[in-house]
Amino acid sequence: MENLVTLGAGPPDAVQHLKPPVDPTTLDYRELLDGPFWHKIPAYKEIDEATWLDWSWQARNSITNPAKLLATIQDLVPKAFYDDVAAGFQRAPMALRVSPYLIGLIDWERPYEDPLRRQFIPVASRLLPDHPKLTLDSLHEQADAPVPGLTHRYPDKALFLTLDTCPVYCRFCTRSYAVGLDTDEVEKVSLKATEDRWERAFAYIAQRPELEDIVVSGGDSYQLKARQITLIGERLLAMPNIRRIRFATKGPAVMPMKLISDVEWLDALTAIVEKGRKLHKEVVLHTHFNHPNEITAITKRALDKVFERGIIVRNQSVLIRGVNDTVGAMVKLVKRLGHCQVHPYYVYLHDMVMGVEDLRTSVQTACDLERHVRGVTAGFHTPTFVCDAPGGGGKRVVHSFEHYDRQTGIAVYTAPSVKPGYFLYYDPIDTLAPDIQARWADPAQQQEMIEAAVAAARAAQQANARASTIR
Ligand SMILES: *Cc1c(COP(=O)(O)O)cnc(C)c1O
Ligand code: SF4
Repeated sequence: MENLVTLGAGPPDAVQHLKPPVDPTTLDYRELLDGPFWHKIPAYKEIDEATWLDWSWQARNSITNPAKLLATIQDLVPKAFYDDVAAGFQRAPMALRVSPYLIGLIDWERPYEDPLRRQFIPVASRLLPDHPKLTLDSLHEQADAPVPGLTHRYPDKALFLTLDTCPVYCRFCTRSYAVGLDTDEVEKVSLKATEDRWERAFAYIAQRPELEDIVVSGGDSYQLKARQITLIGERLLAMPNIRRIRFATKGPAVMPMKLISDVEWLDALTAIVEKGRKLHKEVVLHTHFNHPNEITAITKRALDKVFERGIIVRNQSVLIRGVNDTVGAMVKLVKRLGHCQVHPYYVYLHDMVMGVEDLRTSVQTACDLERHVRGVTAGFHTPTFVCDAPGGGGKRVVHSFEHYDRQTGIAVYTAPSVKPGYFLYYDPIDTLAPDIQARWADPAQQQEMIEAAVAAARAAQQANARASTIR
């Protein structure tokens, strides 16, 4: 700068600006919540920072039922709210588990609107009737699993569900068929962390030379003990066909302190990453942040540690109504993740899981958000908005449908490299016009709407094939 001035370029304030000054509020994503924010929660008034940052304290004190919630937040909310939670809990497909960290971040003055409350704590009064086409395992993960908990859908990559617990239970979980404890609504498929099941998975992976890439998920990799991270990592790295491993966890979003205080776990992961690097194999962490409020100064400290160790972190979000379905929330999430050196990788259209119709959005919403997000930041920080095609078609870019009938709310996708056929996504039933909702209530009319959408998709596909230059 000094040089520029003496060279006659004029003082710096004479630099010509083509853009108007930045609106400072657009830089809010850099301001991370710090200090003992948990002291406003009655049960956590006396909790000091060292205890708060102890991941095992967080795990032991997680909220697993409405009575425990009541004992924790006490008079912060009216009695009617508890009754609503208790009734919602009865009807939920997922068990309840919420870390103290999240309880401390929820705005209890506005619990109905709070984006964190919406993701983790059900309230009966806000539930909506399900779309008639919703199922428990909408992605057909079990149908594509040669070994229980190992889904081999795409040619070169597989999803390995190592265990069936998580540090938190999300209302919207796509694996409500297996993850978490049985609920009044759902008796779960068992995917326990048994080494016998793992051995069968390893044997299958070793026998498939086309498999190069394994997603280690669950449940959640946070629940794996350090020695289990080592065992799984070493077994997979030892296979010549395996080139890439991703450990998937929601943990950093719900209990970031584990990356600070569970040194053994992070050391185990780091050792596998380093071992992989020497073998020229990539081992990364995939995480699951959905809202900028989940990212605090504690998260930044935790992610800084991961970054210092040279571990790449990518994020997969779910698009959730009332949580991140506005341009403001989504852009702030993307920018805040980037600020913490996390690459926003995917935003998933909410899967068609039962019991959470209040959380789904339409395909239109996803397409509109994508338009606004692209261009805001680096291309490698720009998430791809995808629909994981119901029925096992795999992930499709949301706006790549063959046909989308916005009236009936049916989007039709094809997946030529994954599976033949048509894959249908249905917009939330309450977002459709009343006469269309009435048609969905009648099975014969349902069939008619579906056939019309598939016929239109087929016609579009044929026209496209005629014009196509690829053979
Ligand atoms: C998402 C997923 C993968 C990984 O897919 P990417 O697009 O490479 O992230 C692998 N297998 C299954 C079954 C999946 O659902
Ligand atoms: S952390 Fe993932 S697997 Fe576990 S409940 Fe949430 S969405 Fe489901």
